[in-house]
Amino acid sequence: MTASKILLLVLDGASDRPCEALDGLTPLQAADTPVLDGFASGGICGIMDPVAPGIRPGSDTAHLSLIGYPPENYYTGRGPLEAEGAGIHMEEGMIGFRANFATIDENGVITDRRAGRIRETAALISAIREGVDLSSHGVEFMFESGKGHRAAFALKGEGLGAGVTSNDPKHEGMPPKEIQPLGSSPSDAKTARVCNDFIRQSGEILASHPLNTGRQEEGLPPANIVLIRGAGKMGHFETFEEKHGLRGSVISTATLITGIGKVVGLHQATPAGVTGSVAGISAKVAAAMAELEERDFVLLNIKGADEKGHDGDPVAKMRFIAECDTALRDLVPGDDCLVVICSDHSTPCSIKDHSADPVPLVISGEGVRIDDVTHFDEISCAGGGLNRISGQSLMPILLDLINKTDKYGA
Ligand code: ZN
Ligand code: ZN
Repeated sequence: MTASKILLLVLDGASDRPCEALDGLTPLQAADTPVLDGFASGGICGIMDPVAPGIRPGSDTAHLSLIGYPPENYYTGRGPLEAEGAGIHMEEGMIGFRANFATIDENGVITDRRAGRIRETAALISAIREGVDLSSHGVEFMFESGKGHRAAFALKGEGLGAGVTSNDPKHEGMPPKEIQPLGSSPSDAKTARVCNDFIRQSGEILASHPLNTGRQEEGLPPANIVLIRGAGKMGHFETFEEKHGLRGSVISTATLITGIGKVVGLHQATPAGVTGSVAGISAKVAAAMAELEERDFVLLNIKGADEKGHDGDPVAKMRFIAECDTALRDLVPGDDCLVVICSDHSTPCSIKDHSADPVPLVISGEGVRIDDVTHFDEISCAGGGLNRISGQSLMPILLDLINKTDKYGA
């Protein structure tokens, strides 16, 4: 029997470098991971440069690369993907931004870039949608809430460019910046004008909004200014089905990843209300098993290890990986499914950011040549049968294993 389906499990940022606190082991090496090791023992392993050797990827460029959309051809910035993930339908040519609510004092100085991590912003979002008018610029806008203080913003109209700066000064104690065009093109200048007008009008609405006056009475920082950043023009994406001939789904609690899934037409199968917790992982694994009954491909992203890497906490990262492994016990796909497990990038605790170090990879299932690797980690997998591949080779290799490639030549 040949496998015909693919489950791609991405352990976001789980890959690391040797950690002093773990006696020179990586968190994946140090963690007790019988389930991951089982897949490594029964599959073919390797290491993978998510984009290319020496390229330090974001989660966005890495995921695009892994699912067969080379970022150099498709990536136009994080903004449009986040906006799509937050529920704005991004059409080709629209400009998308990441946004968040912040607090500004009576002197116009930002005192909290996250507005006291405000949780519920729906009333503010709808007041801005109703009250802000950009029609004098010939432009429509969309504004959606994200998680907590986060939001997404997008512009639709003629003659808009994506080459603009942010109004976020990146530090508290400073006033917000004026948004500037990056180049001399009239389209960038127009976007900058529209954005500055949006910031001004929305600021007026937020200043007197009852939710904010109520917060001030309770001694909480009001969410009285919108910061926007990450401008990008929405590009053209063929659907995953057009590109690979597979009907797929995405399961993730990260808006950036669900956004990528949406732009390539993957079905959204993240169970409602799940979080990045360990209980959430079990729910996502169950959802992935159900999706594989209906579809050919599931992208399952598990966040968590990446955050521990950004925190620089190897012990917490090792513990999270071990708990995650326990939750993966229910990952028991049928004989018709390849299971592919990797990271999207390394997030070494020692640098608290992503690095270009290659990530471990295993492919298990019917038809793969099983190698001698018995442990899923950066060092063991380097000795496996896949050797070192690039992320852009992953889909072709998987499509070949399910006999979906065309012959090159006669
Ligand atoms: Zn990532
Ligand atoms: Zn990260």
